[in-house]
Amino acid sequence: MANPVIDWRERAAKTVVDGRSFIDGDLHDAVGGERFDCISPIDGRVLGRVVRGQAADIDLAVKAARAAFEDGRWARRSPAQRKRTLQVFADRILAAKEELALLETLDMGKPIQYSLSVDVPSTARTIAWYAEAVDKIYDEIAPTGHNALALIQREAMGVIGVIVPWNYPMIMAAWKLGPALAAGNSVVLKPSEKSPLTALKLAELALAAGLPPGVFNVVPGYGHEAGEALALHPDVDAIGFTGSTRVGRKMLEYAGRSNLKRVYNELGGKSAFLVFPDFDDLDRCAKTLAGSIFFNQGESCNAPSRLMVHESIADDFAKRVAAEAPKYRPADPLDPKTVMGALVDDGQLRTVMSYIDAGQTEGARLLAGGAQARAETGGYYVEPTVFDGVRNDMRIAREEIFGPVLSIIRFKDEAEAVRLANDSAYGLQASVWSSNVDRAHRVARALRAGTVHVNQYDDDDITVPFGGYKQSGNGRDKSLHAFDKYTELKTTWLRINS
Ligand code: NAD
Repeated sequence: MANPVIDWRERAAKTVVDGRSFIDGDLHDAVGGERFDCISPIDGRVLGRVVRGQAADIDLAVKAARAAFEDGRWARRSPAQRKRTLQVFADRILAAKEELALLETLDMGKPIQYSLSVDVPSTARTIAWYAEAVDKIYDEIAPTGHNALALIQREAMGVIGVIVPWNYPMIMAAWKLGPALAAGNSVVLKPSEKSPLTALKLAELALAAGLPPGVFNVVPGYGHEAGEALALHPDVDAIGFTGSTRVGRKMLEYAGRSNLKRVYNELGGKSAFLVFPDFDDLDRCAKTLAGSIFFNQGESCNAPSRLMVHESIADDFAKRVAAEAPKYRPADPLDPKTVMGALVDDGQLRTVMSYIDAGQTEGARLLAGGAQARAETGGYYVEPTVFDGVRNDMRIAREEIFGPVLSIIRFKDEAEAVRLANDSAYGLQASVWSSNVDRAHRVARALRAGTVHVNQYDDDDITVPFGGYKQSGNGRDKSLHAFDKYTELKTTWLRINS
C-alpha cells in the first residue's frame, strides 16, 4: 500500500516543545529556571521555550555521566551487549523518523524531504555502524620477545563532552555519539541553541532503547554559557567539537585553562572545486557543483564554495552553473517538493547578505541571485547566488560564508590551480575534475585537504574518515578512526619467566 501523504504543515501546527534538559534519564528544568525562545526560521514563529543551561546544569549532567561511567553500568557491559542496545537505539530512530525529521526542519529550516531522506537515516546508520563495529575490533600484542608480554588495549576514556552546530544537528551529534557510546563512554551533549530539539528527542529514544540513565545526557543552552561550562569542566575527559574555527580556538583555550582534556575540533571550510578543460562532461560537473554548494542552503562545512575553473572554459562553465542556480529557489521547507529551505536564523541571513554586499563592493560580478527571498513569510531565505570574477584575496573567497553563495575564480594552468586551492586557512575538502588520470592523481595529491573527490563531489559514507587539514580541525569523525578520539591506549607489560 502506498504511504499516505503527510500534511507536514498540519503536523507542524500540532508540535509541542517540552524543552527540558535530559539528565540521568530524567527531564529537568534549569537549576536557575531560565529558558530561551526556540524560533523556527521557516516563519519566525516561536516553537517553544527551551532550557537555558548554565554551569550548574552542566555540572549535574557531568556528575551523572561520571557516576554512570564509574559504576560500569554501560562501560563494563560486553561489546556485544553494547552493540545490541545501540542497534535498538538505531531502530528507534528510524521508527521515529517522521517526528525527528519534522523537528529538524522546523528547528533549522532544511527541506523536509532531506530531513527524511538524509538526516534521519544517516543518523540511524551511523549509530548502527558503530554498534556493529564494536565487537569486531581486537586489541594488540606487541612483538616484544620471549620474556614479556605487552598488551596494547583500548579503554573508554570516561566522560565525553559533545558540542555541535545547527547545520546537521542530528548527524553531527551521531558522528560523536556512535563511537563514544560504542566504546563505553558516557556523554554530555550540548546542542546548538539554534537547533536543540532533535538532540533532546534522541536522548529519550536512547533511554527507551535500554541505554542506562546517565550514559547520554543533553543540556541545551547558549555556547558562551552551557558550552563554555562543559568545555571548562574539570571532570570531562574529552571534547568532541564541531563548529566554527573561531569557537574551535576557544575549545583549545578552555582545555588549557582546565584539565588539558583532549579536544577534537571539526571546523570550517572553504572548499575548492577545480575544473580542468580536459573534463569531458561539463554539464554533469555544473549540476554536481550546484547541487553541492546549494544543498542545505549552502550551510555545509564542506560546501564547494570556491569554483576554480580554467580560463579557456570559464565563460561557458560559469553560464552553465548560473543556469542551475534558479532551480534551487527557496520555498516552504514543509512542502515535500522544496529543495532549498530557510537559513537558520536572522543572524545568519544578515551574515550571508553582508558577504553578498562585500562581494559586490570588492568588484565581483553577480551572475545569479544576490537577494533575500520570501521575506513576507517572516522566515530567513536567500536566493542561490553566483559571483564571477572573484579573486582569491577577496573576502568572499577567503572567509566561510555558510550560505548559498558560490565564488568563481579563474586559473591559467595546473600549478596556479593548485596554488590557489591551497591558498586558504582551511583544508576540509576539495575536488578535481579532469579526464586525464595522471593530472587527476597529481592534483589530488597536491591538495591540502582531508577529503579530495575526483570527478564527483557527493559520494559519502560512514566507512570513510571525515575531517580537515589546517584550520579545518584535527582528528577525524566517521570510520573506525573515530574510535581514536574516544579511547585511550593502555600498554600492560607482563613479565614471563622462562
Ligand atoms: P559555532 O562555532 O558558532 O557553534 C557551534 C557550537 O558551539 C554550538 O553548540 C554553540 O552553542 C557552541 N559555542 C558557541 N560559542 C561557544 C563558546 N564560547 N564556548 C563553548 N561553546 C560555544 O558554529 P555554528 O554556527 O553552530 O556552525 C557552523 C560552523 O560549523 C561552520 O564553521 C561549519 O563549517 C562548521 N561545521 C564543521 C563541520 C565539520 O565536520 N568540519 C561540520 C558541520 C559544521
